[in-house]
Amino acid sequence: MSAPSLPLLGQSLSALKDWATAQGQPAYRGQQLHNWIYQKGIRSLDKVTVFPKGWREALKDYPVGRSEMVQRTEARDGTVKYLLGLTDGQLIETVGIPTSKRLTVCVSSQVGCPMACDFCATGKMGYRRNLELHEILDQVLTVQEDFGRRVSHIVFMGMGEPLLNRDTVVRAIRSLNQEIGIGQRHITLSTVGVPRQIPWLAQQDLQITLAVSLHAPNQELRQQLIPSAVHYPLASLIQDCRDYMLSSGRRVSFEYTLLGGVNDLPIHARQLAELLRSASQSGVQLHVNLIPYNPISEADYQRPHPTRVEEFVRQLEQHHVQASVRQTRGLDGNAACGQLRGSFLQNRAVLVTTPQLPAGNGIPNCPYLREPEGNLKA
Ligand code: SF4
Repeated sequence: MSAPSLPLLGQSLSALKDWATAQGQPAYRGQQLHNWIYQKGIRSLDKVTVFPKGWREALKDYPVGRSEMVQRTEARDGTVKYLLGLTDGQLIETVGIPTSKRLTVCVSSQVGCPMACDFCATGKMGYRRNLELHEILDQVLTVQEDFGRRVSHIVFMGMGEPLLNRDTVVRAIRSLNQEIGIGQRHITLSTVGVPRQIPWLAQQDLQITLAVSLHAPNQELRQQLIPSAVHYPLASLIQDCRDYMLSSGRRVSFEYTLLGGVNDLPIHARQLAELLRSASQSGVQLHVNLIPYNPISEADYQRPHPTRVEEFVRQLEQHHVQASVRQTRGLDGNAACGQLRGSFLQNRAVLVTTPQLPAGNGIPNCPYLREPEGNLKA
């Protein structure tokens, strides 16, 4: 294998050994470098104290591929949201979600998002670019370093549509598994649906969990909420989910953001139940995560009334569909995905601040943010 090109973060052990050899060093220096990049989380090669001093000096400006922490926002429940600055000046968000047993990172896959979902702050900001492999891995290392403990779970549920950056996201999944040691069954990829990409994902031989965001039980309403859905009929999406489960042997979980007065009526629950039953394979009962919406200033949608949520669950259960509700404990203007970045750019906040927010802040529409311990699907 040839020596890796920049940056070093994202390179495999064998590639780092080749790189060390190409630098005139023994191959074991590559093993050491792998450990210092992925386990110790170094940001500069002159910090690799096991390297000879002269070589360290020569390498001190060699880019590792780490971001700069621009802002850190911590909730009382320990959830931390980060605004990370990339080398080209773009800003992305990452969230660290701790419990006593696990540390989950909600990672971004793009700067902005072209899917333009009408209720989403990230969708409102438009699309800038796809993230590079090292920029995805860096988010995980940043959270690991900040918490001082190992990251156990990953959800691709931050800024961006992962399947629009599919090759890099799949490389990142393999790197998270092989270089950082996170089990694939602890990784969830969430998609709103991109034509032809779920069949492609099924062929990648991954053990991850696929989460499909429906947000509407019929095509007409779905297109209102998710403009890109015009290119992907709901019937095709459901068929792709059926085929995915058949060929991969993995279940698909479904996400449904409840928007007050828009998609939270009993008729919607009944339609959703019918839709999910049509997706089921051989009697396998499917599960839907209901996410009561957390309003954002960029859109007019409202949080559903609790009685509507209860009735929605009752209707689903009556129609033999399992459902769980993800509640937001703390609401804040910067809590939703994409809002921290927007607020920062508006206010020109100072670098690295740690304001205290109400408990539960992070990504309120992320169904995993407040997942009860032991209940996150593996
Ligand atoms: S909800 Fe997800 S897919 Fe839709 S605009 Fe927001 S980040 Fe993109």
